[in-house]
Amino acid sequence: MEIRIEKIASPKAKPEDESKLGFGHIFTDHMFIMDYDAGKGWHDARIVPFGDISISPASMVLHYAQEIFEGLKAYRTPDGGIQFFRPIENFKRLNVSAERLVIPQLPVEDGLKALHALVELDKDWVPSAEGTSLYIRPFIFADDPYIGVRPAEHYYFMIIMSPSGAYYASGLDPVGIYVETNYVRSVKGGTGFTKTGGNYAASLAGQDEAHRQNYSQVLWLDGIERKYIEEVGSMNIFFVIDGEVVTPELRGSVLSGITRKSSLELCRKWGMKVSERAITIQEVAEAYDSGKLEEVFGTGTAAVISPVGRLKWGDKIMEINGNKIGAVTQRLYDTMTGMQYGKLPDDMGWIEKL
Ligand SMILES: *Cc1c(COP(=O)(O)O)cnc(C)c1O
Repeated sequence: MEIRIEKIASPKAKPEDESKLGFGHIFTDHMFIMDYDAGKGWHDARIVPFGDISISPASMVLHYAQEIFEGLKAYRTPDGGIQFFRPIENFKRLNVSAERLVIPQLPVEDGLKALHALVELDKDWVPSAEGTSLYIRPFIFADDPYIGVRPAEHYYFMIIMSPSGAYYASGLDPVGIYVETNYVRSVKGGTGFTKTGGNYAASLAGQDEAHRQNYSQVLWLDGIERKYIEEVGSMNIFFVIDGEVVTPELRGSVLSGITRKSSLELCRKWGMKVSERAITIQEVAEAYDSGKLEEVFGTGTAAVISPVGRLKWGDKIMEINGNKIGAVTQRLYDTMTGMQYGKLPDDMGWIEKL
């Protein structure tokens, strides 16, 4: 894959106050874009100035949502370097999503090459204030100007990037989570294990309800019995029950998070008792009632590790660990962010330098 580079004529001003970056509003100077055509494969890899693209109102993605995405970050290290956390996993997962959505495979090495080239060109956009990062969004979408239903014959693969602020502006505050018992996010056999926009569209009504009740996120239960715990909006979920670290097994309806996988690997390395298994909301409530629910936390690229302080299931409100961060949660957070920002040695082989 050869990448043609067309640089922006006059670079945009970078945000001066990195404490006000927020998330997802500001974009860097450039973006990566490549075409796919049936019979021709991926072609015309290019980096161009960030800007609007033109698509037909009949573009298939607008009607049938044949699209997939990834999310990862570039981190600034104390010596001014830039690095990624397990980026190969993102491009492998993009292909897992692609297969389910009947989107052509993108060679992992091409994805990584595009990532490195784009970040290299826009490296001054990687912020350096504590906890900030450059959020990177690779995505592929169907773009045939045709409103019949079938897999498309023309796709775009793009990468856009957005400097983002510290997720925890005021320390690692525990979040409140609302257990959704009416709507479901996905079922086995569906698309729950992929990163596709449709999963998020289906989750908005539940998210809305959680917000109405003053909870920041939704905990989804399985789509058939509404009994087994699946995951949070954009995070996987972990429980520490009587010394055992438990997370729902991957049954086809749960997204296989890279932070989830990394947390499991670290806990196993530390000699903790770790289980990937079916766990019901009833079991969590019983553990809470008997004083054995020690910690609850979410895992995902955006928040890394997010302590859960309150869990609302029907009329029952569980306050976890006195609404304070627990020891396992804190240790995972410190270790993972330490490695990501180059403040701790990478003894897992997870860091890739730009
Ligand atoms: C991206 C995502 C996660 C977290 O995955 P990471 O690889 O850890 O960022 C969890 N759940 C859903 C639904 C997601 O889309």
